[in-house]
Amino acid sequence: MSKASESVKVMVRVRPLNKKEKNRGSKEVVEVDSKFNQINLSKPDSPEISKDFAYDAVFGIDSTQQLVYNEGAFSLVESVLEGYNGTIFAYGQTGCGKTHTMVGDYGEEDSKGIIPKAFSHIFGYIDSREDDTKFLVRCSYLEIYNESILDLLGSDHTAKHDVKEDPDKGIYVQNLTNVIVKSVPEIEKIMNAGNKHRKVGQTAMNDQSSRSHSIFTIYIETSVEKDGDQKIRAGKLNLVDLAGSERQSKTNAKGDRLKEAQKINLSLSALGNVISALVDGKSKHIPYRDSKLTRLLQDSLGGNTKTVMIAAVSPADYNYDETLSTLRYASRAK
Ligand code: ADP
Ligand code: MG
Repeated sequence: MSKASESVKVMVRVRPLNKKEKNRGSKEVVEVDSKFNQINLSKPDSPEISKDFAYDAVFGIDSTQQLVYNEGAFSLVESVLEGYNGTIFAYGQTGCGKTHTMVGDYGEEDSKGIIPKAFSHIFGYIDSREDDTKFLVRCSYLEIYNESILDLLGSDHTAKHDVKEDPDKGIYVQNLTNVIVKSVPEIEKIMNAGNKHRKVGQTAMNDQSSRSHSIFTIYIETSVEKDGDQKIRAGKLNLVDLAGSERQSKTNAKGDRLKEAQKINLSLSALGNVISALVDGKSKHIPYRDSKLTRLLQDSLGGNTKTVMIAAVSPADYNYDETLSTLRYASRAK
C-alpha cells in the first residue's frame, strides 16, 4: 500500500441527463466503457473528434449507490477500521452529483450515498466483533469557506480555526468540536445538525450549490489487550464534498461570488498538484501547504494512506467544456 499509484484511486461517475438538459434537447456526449474503465467524450456537433480517458473505475448512469460504495469506498473504510487514514473526495462541476455520491438521499437504503453507508459499515463491523477489542468512534465536521476553516458542529460556526501539527496527534484543527458517537442514529444526527450550518450560495448553475468544501471526519480508535499491554491503533476517515469546480465565466460571478470562486479554484488546483505529485512518485516536495484543504489532509494523503477521488460529470453536450476539464483534472490525478 505504500506505492502512491496503488493507494490513490481515481474514478468517474456520470449522472443521467436531468430534466433541464432534456428540455433543452441536450445530446449525450459522454460514453462509459465499464469493461476497460474508460470514458469517451465527443465534441458536440463534431462527434468524429473524441477522446478516451482511463481511470481505476467508471460508473455509468445506471450505476447504483451500492455499486459505487463497493468499488469506491468499501476497502478504504476497512483499512480505516484497521488503523490507517483514508480520504474520499467528490470532485466536479456543480449539479453533477458530488453530494448525491457522498450523501445521497437519506430516506431509502438504496439511495444513501457513501457517508451514510460508511456509518452502517463502521458500526456494523464494531457491533459484530466478538473479541474484546474496544472501539472509540468520534467525528468532526467542518467546512472550508474562502480559505477559512469553520466548525459545523460548534456553537460558533463563524469563528475561524487554525491548522496545527503535533508530534503525537499529527495534523489537527485547533478547537474543533469532536463528538463521541456510539451508533448509526447518533452519528446521523450529528451529520444532519452540521449540514444545517453549511454555506449555500446562489449561482447561475444551481441555486443550492455549495461554495465551500466540507469535510466530515470519523476517527476510529481501537484498543486490544495483549499480554497485559494495551495496544492502541487509530485511523481516520475523511469524507470530502468539494465545492463546485466550474469556471467563473459560466457562473456570472461578481464581487463576493468571484472572490469565493478564486479561492475555490486555488484549493482545487492545490489538491490536484498534491495528488499528481503523489502519484508521480518522483517529486521530493509535495506542496501540502499551498491551501488549507491540502494542509489539513496532509496526514491522510500519500504515505501509508488510501485516497479515492470520484469525479462527477454530466453527460450533456452543453456541459462539454466543464466535463472535459473535470476528466482532465481526474486523469492528471491518476
Ligand atoms: P453537486 O453536489 O455536484 O452540485 P448534486 O449531487 O446535488 O450535485 O446533484 C444534482 C442533482 O442531480 C440532484 O438532484 C441529484 O439527486 C441528481 N443526481 C446526481 N447524480 C445522480 C445520479 N448518479 N443518478 C440520479 N440522480 C443524480
Ligand atoms: Mg453538492
